[in-house]
Amino acid sequence: MGELEIRKEIIATCLKMEELGINQGTSGNISHRFKEGILITPSGISYDLLKPEDIVFVPFGSKKDYIGRYAPSSELDFHFDLLKEKLEINCVLHNHSTYATSMAICGLEIPAHHYMVAVAGGHKIPCAKYATFGTSELSKNIIKTLEGYSACLLANHGVITTGDSLKKALWIAIEVENLAKQYIMAKQIGEPNILSSKEMDIIVEKFNTYGIKSKSF
Ligand SMILES: [Zn+2]
Repeated sequence: MGELEIRKEIIATCLKMEELGINQGTSGNISHRFKEGILITPSGISYDLLKPEDIVFVPFGSKKDYIGRYAPSSELDFHFDLLKEKLEINCVLHNHSTYATSMAICGLEIPAHHYMVAVAGGHKIPCAKYATFGTSELSKNIIKTLEGYSACLLANHGVITTGDSLKKALWIAIEVENLAKQYIMAKQIGEPNILSSKEMDIIVEKFNTYGIKSKSF
């Protein structure tokens, strides 16, 4: 994908998050690998006002040398560190979607109440330890938690999903919010049955061989 195409897709994905109700105001942010750096949403600009040229380029060499008329998102650190360290991913999507964030506020992971938790690559959607937004401590907590997973919750904060494309990262974000909603709803009427590790091994294997990953994104 060319630079302009990526910039346009970042904006389209921001607007899609808003349309889907998985983001509120300017709280979400999105990044995409580009050349030796990342393209990321700017700080504090309403999505509906974003133009392709407003997306900020931040080179891996130095965060201070960003190129753009606005400053990069105040949550630049984890986008930058994830894309710099995890070469297998191209995109990072972050939001404060209501149900998933509610679980993160309680310090909960999303367990295997539904086989779709394997969408993030394992037996659950894990939750990263709390640290102040925009700090390298939060980045470290996230990188550690995402080992073996493509998504995680952030305690008292929100959700991160990753992918090789923005379409995939968005799709995982929608699934994570649905899973959290199902779990919270199920808790209202009883105690959710959690699938066994043995069953989840089978599901993860299925997704890896001919399931989710073979979908074209
Ligand atoms: Zn946030």
